[in-house]
Amino acid sequence: MSYQALYRTYRPQSFKEVSGQEHITRTLMNALKNDKISHAYLFSGPRGTGKTSIAKIFAKAVNCMKAPTSDCCCECEICKGIAEGKIGDVIEIDAASNNGVDEIRDLRERVKYVPSVCKYKVYIIDEVHMLSTSAFNALLKTLEEPPKHAIFILATTEIHKIPATILSRCQRYDFRAISNEDLIKRLHQVSDAEKIKITDEAIEVIAVNAEGGLRDALSLLDQAISYANDEITASDVHRISGSVTSDDLIDLITAIKEMNPSKAMDIIDDLIKNGKEISRIVTDLITFFKNILLFKNVPNYNSDFSLYKNERFINLSKTISNQRIYAYISALSEVQNNIKWTNQKRAYLDLGIIKMTDSFELKNVNDNELLYKLEKRVEDLEKRPQSSFTAEQPKVVKQDVCETYESAYDMIKKIMAHPNEDKRNLMLRGWNTFSKITDIELKQVGKMLSQSELVCMNDYDMILVFDEQYICGQIQKPENKELIKKLLNRKQHLINDYVAITRECWNKINDELKNGNNKELNIEEKIVIEAKEEAISEFEEAGIKLFGKENIKFEEWWNMNPNMVKKIQRMQREMMEAQKKLEETEFTGTAAGVVDVVVLGSKEVLKVTINKDAIDSIDDLEMIEDTIVAALNNAFNNVDEETQRVMSQFQMPGMF
Ligand SMILES: [Zn+2]
Repeated sequence: MSYQALYRTYRPQSFKEVSGQEHITRTLMNALKNDKISHAYLFSGPRGTGKTSIAKIFAKAVNCMKAPTSDCCCECEICKGIAEGKIGDVIEIDAASNNGVDEIRDLRERVKYVPSVCKYKVYIIDEVHMLSTSAFNALLKTLEEPPKHAIFILATTEIHKIPATILSRCQRYDFRAISNEDLIKRLHQVSDAEKIKITDEAIEVIAVNAEGGLRDALSLLDQAISYANDEITASDVHRISGSVTSDDLIDLITAIKEMNPSKAMDIIDDLIKNGKEISRIVTDLITFFKNILLFKNVPNYNSDFSLYKNERFINLSKTISNQRIYAYISALSEVQNNIKWTNQKRAYLDLGIIKMTDSFELKNVNDNELLYKLEKRVEDLEKRPQSSFTAEQPKVVKQDVCETYESAYDMIKKIMAHPNEDKRNLMLRGWNTFSKITDIELKQVGKMLSQSELVCMNDYDMILVFDEQYICGQIQKPENKELIKKLLNRKQHLINDYVAITRECWNKINDELKNGNNKELNIEEKIVIEAKEEAISEFEEAGIKLFGKENIKFEEWWNMNPNMVKKIQRMQREMMEAQKKLEETEFTGTAAGVVDVVVLGSKEVLKVTINKDAIDSIDDLEMIEDTIVAALNNAFNNVDEETQRVMSQFQMPGMF
């Protein structure tokens, strides 16, 4: 017996054997049981998710000798005949190879005739989006008034290419990508049944590579069987699928994390030498980072996943913060987008590597890691019971608080030790004038100051309380401090310095003063909280600065390689110009020689011409409407194709 591909052997024969599409099988089974059958179905979804398999099962069930039944029996003559492809009433058309209008015209001719053995003639049109516009129009005619004995099942991976006129006449079912767990389960079943020796890790790698398609998963298993010597291992699967092994990814990420771009590029060189594609490397890196995020942040997530038991993976995960991973993923997504349009994929990947290992780009990430440490510290402090505080502990706290806050803490202590109530009253007398300052330089800080309460001061230093943490952070900035001192000391020298805290913090300090317990320690603890909040606002600002203005990134690249940046900038300009030119270009579209249209590249319709001779009577009105739609789609297709062609000419200037 000749060898049959696994995906054929294990193609589901009845609804109950279908995996991963319960939402669809249940609805169809109910319809079948209640004999509520529609004449046109549209199955859309990713490749290999069971669209044609379900279409064939449906064709059997609807014609099964035991019908009406919710599932086919798989035993009667009809079920068997359809499964073996021996019954001419179930017609499969592959639109990918039959995209001509003739095939559909032929279908229109024959559909009238009653089925020979079955109750229904079932037309399964696979990859229906590949039909030409005129073929679509012909199909539409049939779908409008289908004979009672005909059922159409259209399957497509690209639903957006299906004309609205067709969509509106079909019952639509959206197939899901099959989950990794379902794929893994099925792969285990098949390899057990076929007595294939394969490691669990290899099965996982196949599932990941199949990206939700069961057919791809089984084809990959097939290939692995022919490739592997004895037991199929993960590295066998990596080799045939072109995916990157976990070990290679860990090496690469370690080099990135250690900010060693040349080592990272060496690893990439090796991967490419071993036949890995750049876009694959980028996708695998993104997936790997996603796995690290899940592992770090979702306790017990998919704990069977063998990667999560890999010691190197666990150690690596512990040393990378979430923030850093977000930055990496964002850099890699940019690479992924850019390489779609160019032949110079390597240059873009190298740029991405440099970005990920560049200290400027990572500055805000580092800020955020500091914040993370502070948060942890505060969390620990909050968890710790009051009574367990000892005299040594404040020092531990202090280590993580940056110098500014140590001095803030010292300063609050200093001021509260020698309060000067007279001086405070003197200052308060002028407090309400700050909001009215007109001096351009001082206006802003005057406004900020007017929102504060001067709660305590000694001879020359003040404690200012604000309701909003954000203003606290602003007013503590050195440049604002200078301006405030300038404002307050305009007429005479009144102030040396101040410290700004939130009301919440101040209230707690006061409470503790009144209660007199653990005074110093708890004040310090609150300062740590302030430090944390301060770090948040600093981070937000850095983020706005970094991501808000595109040019910042280019300035950094400029420092690295001015010529390169000039080239990139020039290319960007040229791409924009080309895009603009395209938008102003006229494109034509035509359908069935009846309608001609002219559109702009911006997809604005300029002109529609209808050939009068082609119209026999007013009855053709609907046909003409559909033909106009077809002609427009044709024109828009031309726009898209030209855009793709023009844009793909832009090549990233070589950098290395
Ligand atoms: Zn049957």
